[in-house]
Amino acid sequence: MRCLLFACLLLGSLPAFALDRFQVEGYALPNGLQLLLKPGTERGHVAIRLVVGVGLDDFDCNEKELPHLLEHLLFSGIDATGEGGLEERMQALGGDWNAFTSNADTTFVIEAPAKNQRKVLDLLLDLLTQTRFDDNAINAAKRVVEREDGGHYTRLRRFLDRQDLGHSASNQLAVELGLKCPQRAEVEGLTREQLDKVRKAWYAPNNMTLIVVGDLDKLLPAYLERAWGALEAVDPSEHRSLPDIRTSAAHERTITRGFIGNSAKLHWLVPEPMLDDQYDETFDLLKEYLEWALYRELRLNHGLSYGPWAEREVFGGVGFMSLNADLDRGDIAEAEQVLEDLKASLLKNGLDADTFNRIKQAAIAHQAWAVQGNSGMADYYWSALGDYEDGRFADPARELQGVTLEAANKAMRELLLQPGYLRIEKPLFSDDQVLWLIGGAVGVLGLVLLGWHLRRRKSVPSD
Ligand SMILES: [Zn+2]
Repeated sequence: MRCLLFACLLLGSLPAFALDRFQVEGYALPNGLQLLLKPGTERGHVAIRLVVGVGLDDFDCNEKELPHLLEHLLFSGIDATGEGGLEERMQALGGDWNAFTSNADTTFVIEAPAKNQRKVLDLLLDLLTQTRFDDNAINAAKRVVEREDGGHYTRLRRFLDRQDLGHSASNQLAVELGLKCPQRAEVEGLTREQLDKVRKAWYAPNNMTLIVVGDLDKLLPAYLERAWGALEAVDPSEHRSLPDIRTSAAHERTITRGFIGNSAKLHWLVPEPMLDDQYDETFDLLKEYLEWALYRELRLNHGLSYGPWAEREVFGGVGFMSLNADLDRGDIAEAEQVLEDLKASLLKNGLDADTFNRIKQAAIAHQAWAVQGNSGMADYYWSALGDYEDGRFADPARELQGVTLEAANKAMRELLLQPGYLRIEKPLFSDDQVLWLIGGAVGVLGLVLLGWHLRRRKSVPSD
């Protein structure tokens, strides 16, 4: 009741409250369901995100697709009208829904007219509690998941994955270092018992966060307490710890990508060292700085690459920074040298103070328009749930402001002093090599024909 009173106060508060996007009052129902309700600036619409704390990382390699398959199955239907009937109900409410399974969570994403928000939430609740699936539905969902993952996993695909030809350079390095499963997860062997177990263990209110942003209904808090408060909590399941680097990988490798072509890609990947504080913002700014440095050196000064880029990725429990460039295959050695020179110069002279400040201010300015509208805010809260504390999300602009040149220099040194991993992607043959091969083949064929002709002439007696 206390939270209900508090929620009513929240909905009646000043419009200024809606404008501070980092201030979001959240509370938990007695069954553990976390609620984040935020009045938005756009009228007539609500954005709903139901975040279920189960993702691909919670499962072994051979069971990886379980949460994803379950997510699809939950749209199988809540009564005899099946999947189509469920969709028709959402259409009748004027809403739109979808769901996504990531490494960390499974999230139901809904956009709906404000006037139907409680009915839409009712439909979502029915989907969670009423959906019954049979073997036919499981097989149908398996085909869909397979198609999403790039079609049936054929013997050839599996062979190529083992030969490291089927992964991107960073994924492939993650496999080499034991951070990622070597082969694509398969759905075929997954059983109904396994799916039921996942649903029971993880689809519980104490493992969910419901985010509603927009033109909030005054009756929403009371409705949520009554309808969603009836869900039963379960004993929480532990998330497994994320894999760390377990094996070593070659410093340098060439990966064959495709058959014929003159293009190539260069990647230098390196694990991000652990820093004391604010390391995420520090590496974000460093990434921007390095991308600009690559652009200046590889594109503007040397004309070797059209769109070089820096990237941050996480595999298992390890964050990676990578410096990447699209190239002509004839320019690989030169580009490697430019990259080495760039790293050496940064280590010797440090980051340029003016450039660093310009990039930092641009990143801060970007925050003013980075998140727009109810849906943008709901997505932002979803992505930043880990940064929510005492009714506030951390303000990225303030955190970026706190990153000093000294801290960025320290991070840069720890990053670039590592040898890292160099990966070159290129097709098996260049265009020229193919021309030479064809020329050679034609030549050999010509010689064979000539030889055959001469021998025939010798063996035919003249008159
Ligand atoms: Zn899917």
